[in-house]
Amino acid sequence: MRFTTLGTGTVSLSRERSCAGHLIETNELRLLLDCGSGITRRLAERGDEWRTITHVALTHFHIDHHGDLPTLIFAWKYGFLPARSAPLTIIGPVGTVALLDRLAAAYGSWVIAPGFPVTILEITPADRLELPGGARLTCHAVPHTPESVAYSLEHGGRRIVYTGDTGPSSALAAWAQGCDLLVCECSLPANMAIPEHLTPEQCGELAGAATPGHLALTHFYPPVEHVDTRALVGARYTGPVTLATDGWHFDLEDE
Ligand SMILES: [Zn+2]
Ligand SMILES: [Zn+2]
Repeated sequence: MRFTTLGTGTVSLSRERSCAGHLIETNELRLLLDCGSGITRRLAERGDEWRTITHVALTHFHIDHHGDLPTLIFAWKYGFLPARSAPLTIIGPVGTVALLDRLAAAYGSWVIAPGFPVTILEITPADRLELPGGARLTCHAVPHTPESVAYSLEHGGRRIVYTGDTGPSSALAAWAQGCDLLVCECSLPANMAIPEHLTPEQCGELAGAATPGHLALTHFYPPVEHVDTRALVGARYTGPVTLATDGWHFDLEDE
């Protein structure tokens, strides 16, 4: 299983970082987690593999996490010949069906009926979604917007947790406990802290409680790039840390 950070930025537009989007790949599954602005460009830079994404999962409805989804669907419909025929599953928290209906009202019915089968699944923390190849997707509510969730993807005895956007949450730390890879938002320095996002210190506290095998930080607003994130996290969590950039990847061998 491979995790790739396609977009490690935010809506505070950055020269180096696209808005949020990440890819999980197994032999049978190509799952795009969030699809913010710039993710179609990042996918295009990787070649033709954007054509073969099987699932898209949204963490919440801020546009820096889904702004490129209509573009990607339009690309699947008109962007290559023969047009896509493979089914697509779009997953998201409660409200995802209504969001896509609103996007279809604005852009056209092709958003939800693009000529290949589209299934929209709303996931709640009580659900366990079985995905191709024996992968299992679950979610956990996080303090950011009312609908926001974190995701957990298990495959081959390994577990990846992606926080999406979140504020501090001891319940999230408990839920993420012992995962192999924790992909954690790291938005703002401590002097700009707000309840809806994490500082490096709070990322360190989350990872210190969850004790993942590896911690990857993402979703950097420009001001947090000017503090010593590695030291602030390292004082609270002693495991390996990556400050992810667009295109970084991490491989997890089956257990
Ligand atoms: Zn965001
Ligand atoms: Zn957000």
